[in-house]
Amino acid sequence: MEYISTRNNQKCFTFKDVFLKGLADDGGLFVPKSFKPLNKQELNNLKSLEYNDLAVEIIYPFIGDFMSKDELISTISKSYSNFRSNDVVKISNLGNLKVLELFHGPTLAFKDIAMQLIGNFYQYYLGCDQKKINIIVATSGDTGAAAIDALKGKENLNVFVLHPNNRISPVQRKLMTIHDDSNVYNIAIEGNFDDCQNLVKEMFNDENFSKKINMSGVNSINWARIIAQAVYYFYAYFKVGTDQPLSFSVPTGNFGDIYAGYLAKKLGLPIDKLIVATNKNDILHRAISGGDYTQKKVEETNTPSMDIQIASNFERLLYDVKNCNSEVTKDVMSKIKKNKYKIDKSDLEEIKKNFTSEMLDENETIEMIKIIYEQNKIVVDPHTAVGIGALRKLGLEKNCVVLSTAHPCKFPKAIEDAISKTENLPDSLKFVNNREEKFEVLSNDIEKVKNYVLNSI
Ligand SMILES: *Cc1c(COP(=O)(O)O)cnc(C)c1O
Repeated sequence: MEYISTRNNQKCFTFKDVFLKGLADDGGLFVPKSFKPLNKQELNNLKSLEYNDLAVEIIYPFIGDFMSKDELISTISKSYSNFRSNDVVKISNLGNLKVLELFHGPTLAFKDIAMQLIGNFYQYYLGCDQKKINIIVATSGDTGAAAIDALKGKENLNVFVLHPNNRISPVQRKLMTIHDDSNVYNIAIEGNFDDCQNLVKEMFNDENFSKKINMSGVNSINWARIIAQAVYYFYAYFKVGTDQPLSFSVPTGNFGDIYAGYLAKKLGLPIDKLIVATNKNDILHRAISGGDYTQKKVEETNTPSMDIQIASNFERLLYDVKNCNSEVTKDVMSKIKKNKYKIDKSDLEEIKKNFTSEMLDENETIEMIKIIYEQNKIVVDPHTAVGIGALRKLGLEKNCVVLSTAHPCKFPKAIEDAISKTENLPDSLKFVNNREEKFEVLSNDIEKVKNYVLNSI
């Protein structure tokens, strides 16, 4: 499969380029040049596969000659061997609602599913090419832990994680900062997630710097993450076992997870609506409901993994909506950068064919956790509660799957506020509470961050 950038569809890239670069040099995101949807027969053949086998079938066509199918089979099996659910993910019932539990990986959030695979892709690549790379990633809390767990101790690579200082939960922080592997570096930036993300983008765009350190990225814009995440939409659809189209409600920040659902739909999976569920950082809800894509200041919420105003992956959708015209997309992105973009009516109609959206504020989120607990005796994490609340507000509970993106123990304060219960870590992770933490606090200053990276390697 060939890939192009959303801002230049003339130049082609291989999966290897796309995976290692993350972001295109022109600032655009990589997308496949084209691909064919699966036909009925092909879909039918996937229906009864176990998770790992399904992952092989979905992912393989996208990675071209990066590795052979046999190598992919063993890479996937290695990646998911340490998950606490035999089938990687789990479908559970919440009243008449289906919940897709994605938090059974080593760091208790859905990000593990893509990241464990990516970690092993790197290992495979570095084993073949004998290069040394530095991975720099910004996190709103969960990506960092997932990346560190997937990359710690691996040879020929370092991982630098930038998180917003004091703006993630202590459990989220501990899952990143307790590691003593010499290739792991945690940086707490005095700023918010968007600041962290901008620092990483600036480092990428500084060609001198990024070439010098052989920089690579695993942020949610990395195409490898998207394809790994598309797998569980298929799995959920087949497990629910319906012949109706299903909708999916997705707690959304950077638009990566829900974009994977959109990819699944484009691949032919019968998906009705993709529901963008946001907290009060609601740029995507404002955009999808009324075309308003103005960025406001990021506010801290009890769902920190969605405290984002720049939803990077949205560019991929805009590119599609603009009929794969990269010049027009480039123009839109420069308007967005100046905060002067409104989605026009026909584009919005196009978007609404596949997406709808809702927002929950702080009180509604806490109230939702409480209601779910009272009605079902099940504790959900606040992000998942936003996904469920959005559905209820929209009245779309029928034929719908909610993505449960994190384990509630990652966000004990919200749970405590809602139902006065302490949510403990699973036994296998209790040790993180007693380990020493290691991280460096830096101001939101690109030169300071670059120097720290250069001095560390
Ligand atoms: C990252 C994350 C999200 C948001 O996912 P995006 O792909 O950024 O939209 C939602 N919930 C949790 C728990 C997360 O870690």
